[in-house]
Amino acid sequence: MPVERAASPAYAPPRELPRRVDIFDTTLRDGSQAEGLSLTVADKLRVAEQLDRLGVRYIEGGWPGANPKDKEFFERAAAGELALAEAKLVAFGSTRKAGARAEDDPVMAELAGAGTGHVCLVAKSSPWHITETLRTTRAEAIDMVADSVTFLRNNGKSVFVDAEHFFDGYLEDPGFAREFLAVVEECGAVPVLCDTNGGTLPHQASEVVRAVREIVRGSLGVHFHNDSGCAVANSVLAVIQGADHVQGCVNGYGERTGNADLVAVIADLSLKLGIETIGADRLRLLTPVSRHVAETVNLVPPAHQPFVGVSAFAHKAGIHTSAIARAPSAYSHVQPEAVGNTTRFVVSEMSGRSSVALKAAQMGLELSAEETSYVVERLKELEHAGYHFEVADASLELLMRAATGWKQSFFRLESHRVVTELRPDGSFSTEATIKLYVGDQRIMEVAEGNGPVNALDAALRKALGRSHPELAAIHLTDFKVRVVESSRGTAAVTRVLIDSTDGERSWTTIGVSENVIEASWAALSDSIVFGLLHAGATEH
Ligand SMILES: [Zn+2]
Repeated sequence: MPVERAASPAYAPPRELPRRVDIFDTTLRDGSQAEGLSLTVADKLRVAEQLDRLGVRYIEGGWPGANPKDKEFFERAAAGELALAEAKLVAFGSTRKAGARAEDDPVMAELAGAGTGHVCLVAKSSPWHITETLRTTRAEAIDMVADSVTFLRNNGKSVFVDAEHFFDGYLEDPGFAREFLAVVEECGAVPVLCDTNGGTLPHQASEVVRAVREIVRGSLGVHFHNDSGCAVANSVLAVIQGADHVQGCVNGYGERTGNADLVAVIADLSLKLGIETIGADRLRLLTPVSRHVAETVNLVPPAHQPFVGVSAFAHKAGIHTSAIARAPSAYSHVQPEAVGNTTRFVVSEMSGRSSVALKAAQMGLELSAEETSYVVERLKELEHAGYHFEVADASLELLMRAATGWKQSFFRLESHRVVTELRPDGSFSTEATIKLYVGDQRIMEVAEGNGPVNALDAALRKALGRSHPELAAIHLTDFKVRVVESSRGTAAVTRVLIDSTDGERSWTTIGVSENVIEASWAALSDSIVFGLLHAGATEH
């Protein structure tokens, strides 16, 4: 029977916390500046749907005046391709140019015509940046903000003003910072304090927001970058000091080291400070939405990401695991289920019978005492041969099932063959042939690929596709090959790890052999079998 201890006594925050904080996601604008992240318009529409499902209040869709892709995104969204249940779409852009009129500025016209009710303007708020990089006067910089906000307000828009370099500017000249904020508020916009270079430390962020909260009467936003590793901490401290609007990106995507990770911000504010963000019933969507977005932007989700990473609630064998079995909160700061994640017991050759039994129970398997001992022995042998099950839960689950006498019957392999050919023009072609049985039907398929694993995967899918349509939703996301010294002291072996997903759940499988194709096949077939098993596919 699990026992729960009482929650730790809370330290009182220095002021009354806001009851609700608006979550403003900028994954599609600031987040898309991340290295290695590139989104088509269709990808952007899919990410926006996920953000709406999560329940963020605002989705910044891009910069319609600056690039054609973003302009097309807003056009397609307005034409009905994006049906948002609750979130409001926001168009981003700069203020009017120095010395020009807002009415004549093409960027202003794009923002007014983007088909959104909300606009976020970026404006320089540091005196040094105004004179040195913008090369204009402080008075003109203030007028640029006032004119632009007024123009957009007259066009029926709600406006946010991203005060660029605000924290650096505040340290330079707090008087100018106050003047800037007063103008933004007088014109009817919400000021957002931006740590554009991401160098602000928590005590500074806290102090500046505290001082600003004294003078800003209405809503107050913050926008932190993570260059000092403090973006989430700064966002939480800003809310403690009275900010009620936080900008950031899902999974902390963004230029350089990224923006504040909204996943952690939402979880911290909601679960630890009791502030309403996306609604209590939606917190469990944090893990699936985080992984779904990672999938869409084609980046591997970091295992150690707080709250939603696969390792976020992973515990290795030993004292921890037995303690957690008795009291789930013994080594977890929150309940993983609250954010849609799960506790994982990591099993390795170091694990004893109790850890293996726990792990099996977590996978919904019942192992007898004999079966448990068999798994413990088998793990030792396989890890000795170069396997590493800590990172390959899916293969471990199949191994445990096999210990109970289970044998997959989705297909039975007869043979496969992979041919790689160097052509006279210097290009390579790879072709895989696979022969297998589904039930008593013999199937043979041939497929090409950009390498052996890709070709084998394609041939296997062709062979199984008709009888197992569930495969369409399953695909490989990452493939890692390492040469490892096996502890047998003989030849080095190749260890292949394959990450797969069905869009919301991801799993890792492993294969080890002296032959890279054999290792790849083991990991690949485990991946497909695990995917079919959990998709509820019919066994033959
Ligand atoms: Zn930014």
